[in-house]
Amino acid sequence: MHIILVGPQGSGKGTQAELLVTKHRIPHVATGDILRAAIKDETALGRQAKVYMDRGELVPDEVVIGIVRERVALPDCRKGFVFDGFPRTIPQAEAFGQVLGQLGIHLDAVVLLEVPRATLLERMAGRRVCRNCGATYHVSLNPPRQDGVCDLCGGELYQRADDNPEAIRNRLEAYDRATRPLIDYYRQRGLLVEVDGIGALEEVADRMERAVQARERKTS
Ligand code: AMP
Repeated sequence: MHIILVGPQGSGKGTQAELLVTKHRIPHVATGDILRAAIKDETALGRQAKVYMDRGELVPDEVVIGIVRERVALPDCRKGFVFDGFPRTIPQAEAFGQVLGQLGIHLDAVVLLEVPRATLLERMAGRRVCRNCGATYHVSLNPPRQDGVCDLCGGELYQRADDNPEAIRNRLEAYDRATRPLIDYYRQRGLLVEVDGIGALEEVADRMERAVQARERKTS
């Protein structure tokens, strides 16, 4: 299964991607996670990306495309992948198409997770992330058992630097301007699957899986 998840920040892409990759035993490739790891490790890439990320702006296409080109060529992506947060612009989608073509990989679907804007804002403002394992929580919608502590590994929970009101506004603006055009781009290629992202985690996951299977049946 080779799929891409598209949707605004806070639509639940990361959480849904985790459910899918655990079930199908395929890699979860999230460019945001790769960039945050580079910042934590204080690499040259991390220093370059941090300026954009803290403001909620997109990192330049050539930087992100370079990361993905290397990642997708690793053998674990042959059998499948879930891309989350990439592509985010038309040039990224075009470059990705070329790279996949060279590797002989065919996309099965591009899933668009749809969530109303008010819900996105609520989800982002209350999001907390584990500093150690990256698991995500929400202060009221999905709280950890102990305040500020990860249920899975005991790591410290923190609020992402870009989950502040100004960066959130910039990120949603970047989504509308640069990423939303991808919806038509993939619809025209017959790959788009639209899924309602409101509901319990498992319910949305089920909906997504059924929608992807329905698309596969239609095209096979
Ligand atoms: P995310 O974790 O997907 O919300 O991404 C966090 C931040 O990383 C974004 O606001 C961007 O600054 C940067 N980023 C992640 N993926 C991309 C991408 N495909 N293109 C450009 N910037 C990205």
